[in-house]
Amino acid sequence: MGNTQIEFRNVSFRYQEDMPWVLKDVSFTIYNNEWVAMIGHNGSGKSTIAKLMNGLLFPQEGEILVDGQPVTASTVWDIRRKVGMVFQNPDNQFVGTTVRDDVAFGMENHGMARDLMLERITESLEAVGMNGYERHEPHRLSGGQKQRVAIASVLAVSPQYIILDEATAMLDPKGRKEIMETIREVQSERDLSLITITHDLLEVTQADRVIVMNKGEIWMEGTPRELFTKKKQLIEIGLDTPFVSKLADELKDAGLPLTREPLNHQELLEELW
Ligand code: ADP
Repeated sequence: MGNTQIEFRNVSFRYQEDMPWVLKDVSFTIYNNEWVAMIGHNGSGKSTIAKLMNGLLFPQEGEILVDGQPVTASTVWDIRRKVGMVFQNPDNQFVGTTVRDDVAFGMENHGMARDLMLERITESLEAVGMNGYERHEPHRLSGGQKQRVAIASVLAVSPQYIILDEATAMLDPKGRKEIMETIREVQSERDLSLITITHDLLEVTQADRVIVMNKGEIWMEGTPRELFTKKKQLIEIGLDTPFVSKLADELKDAGLPLTREPLNHQELLEELW
């Protein structure tokens, strides 16, 4: 694997001293050019991890390193240039009156030169298939288009890592698929690492690696195949249809809700693989 990475070393976090720990002794590494899907129940700590990764929060215990540099109050601007974040609701991320202003905003924050900014606006809108929309009002775009612009804003800063925190959750399956395809293309062109926080099982199966969170701890870490291996073995030993709904429940309990209720084993397998 490459030498750029995000590393969590025994990280524990709580929002306030008198509150329970939200993350407990969490350690993992995100490698260069890798796509890691992070899944788990609501409240299991995924968004907190995302915020720690780009210095919106700092841990009380342990250490977070981005390319070997500890994430602290004094390194946070460097870190945010390297680690971009896209959230669930693009409306909350829009600040400008035009698409161009919006894409420029992140770069202005990082003090980029104007010529470079103009170049990057064009490049990043092209990368997400939104060239020609520079003068459009962000609020009038469709959900998918808004999310593309939000991604372009992050790309313009030229990060090495992009975190998508439920970034496709508000889109329909088609929109979701399109956005993920766009992101995959950009990832391979630019050698990016992707961290996607998701409930979408299809997205999980496409990732290189999955981290399953449960109550503030890592429940499992491995390839999607490893994750589903146990379940597949159970299906192969000839369990009948009622088992499928039981399995769906089980996956849900494990923080892996199915995107739809499968009708039979074949459909379930198709959904899982
Ligand atoms: P997930 O992304 O897996 O749904 P979160 O990281 O959002 O989980 O939340 C983990 C825990 O931290 C939950 O118990 C949640 O209620 C709590 N939490 C999240 N944000 C805050 C906050 N700003 N203040 C206090 N508690 C919070």
